[in-house]
Amino acid sequence: MRVGQGYDVHRLVMGRSLIIGGVDIPFSMGLLGHSDADVLVHAIMDALLGAATLGDIGTHFPDMEEKYKGISSLLLLEKVAEMLENKLFFVENIDAVIIAEAPKMRPFIHDIRTNIATALGITIDQVNIKATSEEGLGFTGIGAGIAAQAICLLTTPVNDGRTGMNEDRKGTNEDETEASASYCPRMIERKAVTGVICGRCPCLSKTEPE
Ligand SMILES: [Zn+2]
Repeated sequence: MRVGQGYDVHRLVMGRSLIIGGVDIPFSMGLLGHSDADVLVHAIMDALLGAATLGDIGTHFPDMEEKYKGISSLLLLEKVAEMLENKLFFVENIDAVIIAEAPKMRPFIHDIRTNIATALGITIDQVNIKATSEEGLGFTGIGAGIAAQAICLLTTPVNDGRTGMNEDRKGTNEDETEASASYCPRMIERKAVTGVICGRCPCLSKTEPE
């Protein structure tokens, strides 16, 4: 199992749409950024990348690149999902909080959870989104910006040394071979059927697939 955390902040400005969790939220201001400035999705991506030791969003999606200008962050989240799948990591759950004085997020939480779950190919009950205000304190309290924090747990069917517990394989190239050798057959089948690897495969808790 792997745990990861993410944090992001964007400035609130006039003349931009407020996109949170892929939802266009009606508000007098929006978040400033190179992409759609989806502060929540950025925090979640950083949590996922961190848990998988894949760096951060700045590494993979540099904000100097023209192709990411105005891009929906949900598309970037889909790319993160692919990166996790390539490393045989599956999302167990995500918990995140939006920190904003205004607007009220409650009416949009269900749509936000749906968007994030869909982008990651997981179920909505694996994604918890909360919102809070800072009671008028700090930069979020005065409405200068919106922040988000996220934490996630990843699981993997690969029983290899990458968690650092198996000292003799350190520094070797055996990880790839080991990964395919211990890759759960049922999960491969499921992938073929649904197009999405299921992180809740019962084989994760068994030594031998049925
Ligand atoms: Zn951001």
